[in-house]
Amino acid sequence: MTHLAADDRYETMPYRRSGRSGLRLPAISLGLWHNFGHTRSIESQRAILRRAFDLGVTHFDLANNYGPPAGSAEENFGRIFAQDFRAYRDEMVISSKAGYYMWPGPYGEWGSRKNLIASLDQSLGRLGLDYVDVFYHHRPDPDTPLEETMGALDAIVRSGKALYVGVSNYTSEQVREAAAILKDLGTPLLIDQPRYSMFDRRIEEDRLLDALEEVGAGCIVFSPLEQGLLTDRYLKGIPEDSRMATSHFLNEDRLEGDVLDRVRGLNAIAAERGQSLAQTALAWALRDPRMTSVIIGASSVRQLEDNVASIGNLEFSEDELAAIDKLSIG
Ligand code: NDP
Repeated sequence: MTHLAADDRYETMPYRRSGRSGLRLPAISLGLWHNFGHTRSIESQRAILRRAFDLGVTHFDLANNYGPPAGSAEENFGRIFAQDFRAYRDEMVISSKAGYYMWPGPYGEWGSRKNLIASLDQSLGRLGLDYVDVFYHHRPDPDTPLEETMGALDAIVRSGKALYVGVSNYTSEQVREAAAILKDLGTPLLIDQPRYSMFDRRIEEDRLLDALEEVGAGCIVFSPLEQGLLTDRYLKGIPEDSRMATSHFLNEDRLEGDVLDRVRGLNAIAAERGQSLAQTALAWALRDPRMTSVIIGASSVRQLEDNVASIGNLEFSEDELAAIDKLSIG
């Protein structure tokens, strides 16, 4: 049954321009890496997607390999989209990616034109869409000439299968090169998608936001909650249904050393701001106005609502920022 979206869905979410493009993205985007595979009930997935859209989350981030199993997140999103959201297609920004391992043989991963074009066709089939809004090269490929990978992205836009293109996990140097090639081809680079959180500040050392500003591209970051570490999820042990207990992407050794003490300290700073730790971690990642969006994951509607409410306070005092630095740069 078609979802009847909330009338007030655009009243609170801020939308930020991606670089110097015409596209604005919600400050909070929803990612489907976990929690949307065949291992989760379709009803829980539908509830999260409906609530997200009602809260002004217009951007849904996917990739060929999300699941598990790989491909199932696109299938499930496609199924729910067809039933619930078709009428809202023009209010949604749906992205996918190719670059990580997807199928056997020499064409199932990395950055060849062969891989990117075949993978996007497969993604569109699973999603049941004619085009995605943003198509990404998922990770740099040390062996394929960047001209070929960027040429494939340009060809994809010209074929009408994507409206914009982005890169993911590219450094400032790689972004500068990619953007220059794309500019020559006449297809601007929309955005880079790196990892960033209080516990992973590599893009600051790399001055990535400066490079993106220079080339006119935006920045959308993944794992801003460090997969759940920067929330109250692990403060009293490892819950049975948590990512740490159920997925090999977040191992128990992440809790070693003084990590939990630092999380507790950050939690206390958040409480003083009247926020949950998740909310403060997201607001913090959005503190530079050049940061277009943060992509969150959520395994429940409650988590989603908690995260979206971070937009209620996006300001930080110098003292708060210094206290956060002390605890986060370990
Ligand atoms: P997060 O850092 O937001 O982690 C999400 C997880 O944190 C949830 O699944 C949940 O874990 C826990 N969580 C979320 N909100 C709360 C809350 N309010 N309270 C308590 N726990 C909470 O992001 P992800 O690592 O999931 O990545 C987000 C998206 O980024 C992905 O879906 C994907 O779209 C993109 N991404 C892109 C990559 C790339 O290479 N381009 C790589 C990785 C991600 P639990 O399951 O334990 O409840």
